[in-house]
Amino acid sequence: MNRRGNAGVAEYTQPRVAKTSTGSAALVVEETSEQPGPVAVLPAERPGQHGSSTRSRVLVLNASYEPINVCTVRRATVLVLKRRAEVVEESDWALHAESFTMQRPLVIRLTAYVKIPRDAHSRKITRRAVFARDRWTCQYCGSERGSLTVDHVVPRSKGGGSGWDNIVACCAPCNRRKGDRLPKDANMHPRRRPKAPHSTIFVYVATPSIPDAWHPYLIAA
Ligand SMILES: [Zn+2]
Repeated sequence: MNRRGNAGVAEYTQPRVAKTSTGSAALVVEETSEQPGPVAVLPAERPGQHGSSTRSRVLVLNASYEPINVCTVRRATVLVLKRRAEVVEESDWALHAESFTMQRPLVIRLTAYVKIPRDAHSRKITRRAVFARDRWTCQYCGSERGSLTVDHVVPRSKGGGSGWDNIVACCAPCNRRKGDRLPKDANMHPRRRPKAPHSTIFVYVATPSIPDAWHPYLIAA
């Protein structure tokens, strides 16, 4: 689990492309984010298991209005005070600090355009991202309940890769039933052909519930 401390307030410069333990590049979207680690090393997670911090999240738009990040209110406030971002949507209640008062930001927009690597999001494969892409639904039986796992459609032992096109959300019983077999041998085929998700997937990964104020900006993306 790649959980960083919350010490200090780092300035927003640019999303960094970091090496994960699997050697693939991944977009680190936020200093204090609770993004899960690579699929191979991650413990099981359930939807909604994200703590109260998700309620205080702010959507970050690029200068082009493309959603690029989700951050804390604290971080958003710093960006706005440093004039690195402007508030696009705000809450009707105010934040009070020692030296200032401002409306609680809901959506902010960076004043300078940040270049995002085209395929950064599609390379970042995590269990949570796979679950979000597959709508927390087993791709074999359609079950939305029970503990989800990830399944390699073509098992790794049979040469299957670990890319978006070979990993699906799968309930534990289906995973046991399929075992180490090919889809045709198990007669189990994913309902939707797995592929890399849209770049806004990270927003759904970062927050179990999307605030109403965010929707117009996600639809436009
Ligand atoms: Zn299933």
